[in-house]
Amino acid sequence: MSINIVKPELLAPAGNFEKLQAALIYGADAVYFGGKNFSLRAFGDNFTREEILSAVDFTHARGKKIYAAVNVFAHNADLDALNDYLKFLDAAKVDAVLISDLGVLSLAKETNLKIHVSTQANVTNFQAAKFFSELGASRIVLARELSREEILTIKNFCAAELEIFVHGAMCISYSGRCWLSKFLTGRDANSGACTHSCRWKYNLVEETRPNEFFPVGEDVRGSYVMNSKDLCLLPYLDKVIQSGVASLKIEGRMKSVNYVAGVVKVYRAAIDSYFDNPNDFKIRDEWLDELDKVAHRPYTTGFFLSDGKPTEIYSTSKPKRSSEFLGIVRAFDAATKLATIEQRGKFEVGQRVEFFQPTGKTFSQTITSMRDENDEKIFSAPHAQQLVKIPVDEPLEIWSLMRS
Ligand code: SF4
Repeated sequence: MSINIVKPELLAPAGNFEKLQAALIYGADAVYFGGKNFSLRAFGDNFTREEILSAVDFTHARGKKIYAAVNVFAHNADLDALNDYLKFLDAAKVDAVLISDLGVLSLAKETNLKIHVSTQANVTNFQAAKFFSELGASRIVLARELSREEILTIKNFCAAELEIFVHGAMCISYSGRCWLSKFLTGRDANSGACTHSCRWKYNLVEETRPNEFFPVGEDVRGSYVMNSKDLCLLPYLDKVIQSGVASLKIEGRMKSVNYVAGVVKVYRAAIDSYFDNPNDFKIRDEWLDELDKVAHRPYTTGFFLSDGKPTEIYSTSKPKRSSEFLGIVRAFDAATKLATIEQRGKFEVGQRVEFFQPTGKTFSQTITSMRDENDEKIFSAPHAQQLVKIPVDEPLEIWSLMRS
């Protein structure tokens, strides 16, 4: 059977309202968010009901889509509140809900909401995909643990749309179905409270010597036996698109505005470039450079290529990035060429900075002077979210990011 290739949706994480705005302004076709309860990111900012209404308005005003993650595994005591929440999401005109639990799915079927089966449901074969489709799901977010060949087979046998992760952090266990965090800290990954215990540094302790930590050595820095690299399928984007999936998902509701903007802009440009000229599609160095600037662990292709390359990083669990996020451009005065920057990191006069724009080109310049909200001259911007004005060399789009 031949695969029908359509331009896939670029789906971005919206950890809060500002990240939702960044994702859409930098080129996402759709965003996903969690409410204050029932989504698997209990430590994220998440959205109140009032914020959900604003988020739906903001998204739909741009002709884009918004999905709510309701992907907890529910207990009996959760069901009344879940039912009420699903009815609210339906009335709010959210475009779909992401669900893992069959009980929640059955409640969602009593609304008009479209149902997307979350990756937490671990769909790894076409029979499971077909079954969820017959239960009423319009889209299946496949488990991350699948090769390209397996995705192609599922696509051939399943009527529902398929969504796959193309970028972001991975779980060492089966897409979050993990008891490590609950066992070590009491915080349950399956209820959205994961403490990322797989990223910790582990030693060996003998019970009568509780303060002696014997290194379990993978190298001189220690042992991070369960620390997964981050997924990045950009270098194989043509193969991803040719697999016929409907939606390409970026992980990271807990990540920064800088991460969301940078990763979304790269994948937006790459997807558009492929569809402009599929026969001459090439991965550009500038895209890979940008993915290196945002916080990440070493990249892996995960299970997509089934090439057997290691997907863990044993030397450190700390993500690295090659640029610092300093501020967001909130206004630009074309007459005076002054940009108003909302501070997010420390910067000062004389510093070399880069402006990363939603659609325009990235450029660098030196900060030659700075004024505060009272038009007083200042030399640095030490206060969080302080508004400062600086002269810029070129016109700037609102929502550009200033970085080191
Ligand atoms: S502890 Fe690690 S593997 Fe387990 S759910 Fe959390 S992030 Fe995933």
